[in-house]
Amino acid sequence: MSIKINDVFYVSPEGEDICEYCGKIAELRPYGKNGANICYECGMKDTETTQEMLGKCAVGVKKVVISTGHNNPNEKKSINKEVLLPFGTHTIYITLDDDKIYKLNEDLSREEVQDIPQASRENPIVVMHKAQFDYAKGNKLNKFSDFKMSEEMAKIYNKIGFISDLELVKFLEY
Ligand SMILES: [Zn+2]
Repeated sequence: MSIKINDVFYVSPEGEDICEYCGKIAELRPYGKNGANICYECGMKDTETTQEMLGKCAVGVKKVVISTGHNNPNEKKSINKEVLLPFGTHTIYITLDDDKIYKLNEDLSREEVQDIPQASRENPIVVMHKAQFDYAKGNKLNKFSDFKMSEEMAKIYNKIGFISDLELVKFLEY
């Protein structure tokens, strides 16, 4: 997370979590109303609040330090299976490369559905797009990257179809 110590603002990789606005798994920033942790897209939908919260975070800041995860003033939060796939509370939908929509079952099998239902408080959903994952894949599957995923996560991503068998083998063979 990003924190302010005296007049230095430490911006660090936030790790991924569930956006408090749209339920998507993404890198979050505390720029929602009352400091809600939200994704970039949701932040851009209400730029006024984002600007206001960003302003609050950066008040009196003389120096901004971008941390890469090492020497992080806070422990880097690592993503686990429950955070990525909160089956207990959410219905999870994924899209792959075939323009179809799948509902993900708890055993990580998937079934095709016609569309993604509207999310509501009673029916919270998580939607994960492979195309979006592909964007960050280079870093996530790079053994030498600070953002590389755990082997456990790689296996889960492989099961749901986001990482090919070949990519998984390459990532694990060290
Ligand atoms: Zn969001």
